[in-house]
This record gives sequence, structure tokens and C-alpha cells, in this order.
Amino acid sequence: MARVKMAAGNWKMNKTPKEAVEFVNELKAKVEGSYSEVVVGVPFVALSDVKKAVAGSNIKVAAQNMHWEEKGAFTGEVSGPMLKEMGLEYVILGHSERRQYFAETDETVNKKVHAVFKYGMTPIMCCGETLTQREQGVTADLIRYQVKIGLLGLTPDQVKQIVIAYEPIWAIGTGKTASNEQAEEVCAIVRDCVKELYGSDVAEATRVLYGGSVTAASAHDLFNMPNIDGGLVGGASLKSDDFEKIAKYNG
Ligand code: PEP
Repeated sequence: MARVKMAAGNWKMNKTPKEAVEFVNELKAKVEGSYSEVVVGVPFVALSDVKKAVAGSNIKVAAQNMHWEEKGAFTGEVSGPMLKEMGLEYVILGHSERRQYFAETDETVNKKVHAVFKYGMTPIMCCGETLTQREQGVTADLIRYQVKIGLLGLTPDQVKQIVIAYEPIWAIGTGKTASNEQAEEVCAIVRDCVKELYGSDVAEATRVLYGGSVTAASAHDLFNMPNIDGGLVGGASLKSDDFEKIAKYNG
């Protein structure tokens, strides 16, 4: 079965609840009928309002993080049951900014992946190398390591469902998009790693996104590469016209 392409926006720490609702109200009409699955990754405080605002549309909603424990003494954290109750479909996990600024590791990402499934949502799990790692020639090894640890203990059905976003750190928010070939090469490594662990059927079902300065102009070629099933989009997802073009890239 063909994999459905995904245009997932990662708003990061942008938009107040009011701005977020205004934005999705505008976006709804623009992405209606788009053949990509459209997801917006929203700050915690706006999730509830955004989820209500997109009711009846084809926009799905993601949180940008989640703790692995159900509840307890974890000041400032948000749990699976809290997000599930809002009816969210996705949770972005292991974004490089969370790894860099909030000390997330492959092991904590793996715990979070399990928790997201436990509460009936789907993880969008990020991986990616720094420029130094790319220059040192360890990109493939590092990506395989991140994917292997991130997927540890998952069932084949869960791995078919998970979305893995390859995001070279040197391309995030820098305006430096990886070339189509660079992005395809690593997304193919991700799929190959899934194949080694779970076999071809699973690997053919798992969606692998590219993320890193995707624009309305670059989405078409990137999303048409054989192993790229769409994008995790930061900056360009904050502008409804650009995100519309990305979601409606010419497949
Ligand atoms: C991201 O935040 O995941 C991202 C890829 O950002 P940008 O598109 O701005 O590089």
C-alpha cells in the first residue's frame, strides 16, 4: 500500500492560543482536499483550543513533547493521559532542540515513544546529525543508532504506524536545506535500518519524513524522492500560504 505523504508543521515556541486559533481557522480552508496528511505541532497551551478549532477539518494536531510517566512529581511536564484527553493524534518526540537544550537522549525518547503508543497516539520521532558528525563521516552510524534505540521494544504494528523524521541539525532553521540526494540517502538509511530490525513489510509501511528548512519551493522535489514521505516543517509552517503550498506539493 502506498504511504500517505505527511506535511507536519512544528511551530516550536510560537503563537499564543489566540494567534494559534486564528491561524488554523485560516489554514483549514487552504488545506482542504490536500492529498497529504496535514498535521500542526502546537505549543501545549494552545493545543486544546486548536483541537476544537480544527474539528471537522482534515487538520490533525500534534504536541511537541510528552513525559513518559502517567502522572506524578515532574514539575512542568505533561503526560499521555493529559494529551489523549484532548484528542490529539500525534506527538513530536526527540526533536534536536529538545536533545540540545533539554538533555533528551535516545533512551528517554524511546520511553516516550512507548508512552505515546500506550495512550493511543502516534509518535513523530526525530533523528539527525550535526554538521561535525556529517563531516566526520559518521552520519549513517549515528542515524542507525538513534533509530535502533528509539524503536527498542516496539511491536511490528507500532513500527508500521510510527513516523520517523530525519532532520539534519545543520539544516534546521538555518535556511540550508539538504540536497534532495542528501535527504534521500539518509531517509533510505532509516528505512533500511527498520528493514533490518523488522523486515520489508514493516519498512515499506513506515513513513520517513525529511525536515530542515523545507520551503514551498523545495517541498515538491524533496517529497517526490522515493524514501521521503513528506516533511517536518518549522519556519515555513508558520506562514499559512507557504504551508498550504507544502501540503499541496505536486505529487
Ligand atoms: C523543525 O523545527 O523541525 C524544522 C525542520 O525547522 P525549519 O523547517 O525551520 O528548519
